Amino acid sequence: MSIMKKIAILGSTGSIGTQALDVVREQPDHFEVELLTCGSNVDLLLKQALEFKPNAVVIGDTSRLPEVKDILFPAGIKAYAGAEALEQCVRMEDIELVLTALVGYAGLRPTLAAIDAGKHIALANKETLVVAGELVTKAAAAKGVNIYPVDSEHSAIFQCLAGEWHNPIEKIVLTASGGPFRGWSRDQLAEVTKAQALKHPNWDMGAKITIDSASLMNKGLEAIEAKWLFNLRKEQIEIIVHPQSIIHSIVQFCDGSMKAQMGLPDMKLPIQYAMAYPDRLATTWPRFDFTRYPAFTFEQPDLAAFKNLALALEAMDKGGNAPCVLNAANEVAVDLFLKERIGFLEMSDLIAHTLEAVPFIPKPELADLEASDAEARRMALESTTAWNS
Ligand code: NAD
Ligand code: MG
Repeated sequence: MSIMKKIAILGSTGSIGTQALDVVREQPDHFEVELLTCGSNVDLLLKQALEFKPNAVVIGDTSRLPEVKDILFPAGIKAYAGAEALEQCVRMEDIELVLTALVGYAGLRPTLAAIDAGKHIALANKETLVVAGELVTKAAAAKGVNIYPVDSEHSAIFQCLAGEWHNPIEKIVLTASGGPFRGWSRDQLAEVTKAQALKHPNWDMGAKITIDSASLMNKGLEAIEAKWLFNLRKEQIEIIVHPQSIIHSIVQFCDGSMKAQMGLPDMKLPIQYAMAYPDRLATTWPRFDFTRYPAFTFEQPDLAAFKNLALALEAMDKGGNAPCVLNAANEVAVDLFLKERIGFLEMSDLIAHTLEAVPFIPKPELADLEASDAEARRMALESTTAWNS
């Protein structure tokens, strides 16, 4: 079957965004790029725009807009800047699918705008579902919009569920690589440097998710993401460390049967699956070789050493604005860790403290979440300043 989808890629200069463009380059008969956007990497965005000829681009860095317009105008490409322009442009008529590959809380409003305009979503930006899973999934249901997961674990579950939509899920098993510090004690973790944390054993990703993977916060965010994508209770979500990163996740059905999705760790596969669903497109990427993987191993995550995971699971259980506060505090903590202003374990202290300090809202509206996000960021920064003084 032949498809041609018109897509928008939000965050096209990042790890997921550039791999999505690799997919477009390899599948020119199936995808056409309508919109490309970035935060500050304007030089790369310009190159991408001249290659893929989208209808429009949006940059985060407003000061460079005149230069971008000068370069793209002769090619017939419109250029805009800023968060409001992004929210407008995702609504462009020709766009059918919006790939949300920008990082962090900044993904929430453009995703909601795209859903409101009836665009299907290929969701990489997990923070959107962590912050506002209930609002986002309700809005998508109301508009008849599909959310296709890009995260490899969620794509795995989605692939296992194909043809099984009517069958009850007993539980899902999210696999985790364990990151670069698997098996480390808290004493060892206290000494972790930024350079060590930025080296992931199996995946090459943006800085924020690489730190989240090292602290296991990423798996906590993914549990919350899975809860909303697949409508699960917390007892139905199990996390298991599988250091080889070949089994991307598992679904266990009501008869006890388990289905797993496997493959080499390469994000292009889940990106392409989300973009081409329900079709599988032929690729020439490297295939799995049994002789290189004589054994798969599994172990329990260490929730005592990796407190971020425990904090995320608690926030999921508490619900309301707790995951939003967790996410905001974590974004601040990761940023401070990357600036070498706090240590690896202090990230958990900062998040725990912020979760206690921001008032709980059981049924938050969008405005409540925006206020909680701002309040959590303010408190997280304030407490760090207090510790450091
Ligand atoms: P990245 O840092 O490599 O790229 C982020 C992109 O977003 C860049 O294009 C950047 O210019 C843009 N951006 C950053 N801040 C912005 C802002 N405020 N407004 C608009 N654009 C902004 O990140 P990534 O690793 O590609 O991750 C993107 C998302 O996908 C994250 O939510 C991450 O958790 C998720 N994800 C990534 C991977 C992976 O392998 N990289 C895997 C699973 C999920
Ligand atoms: Mg993942």
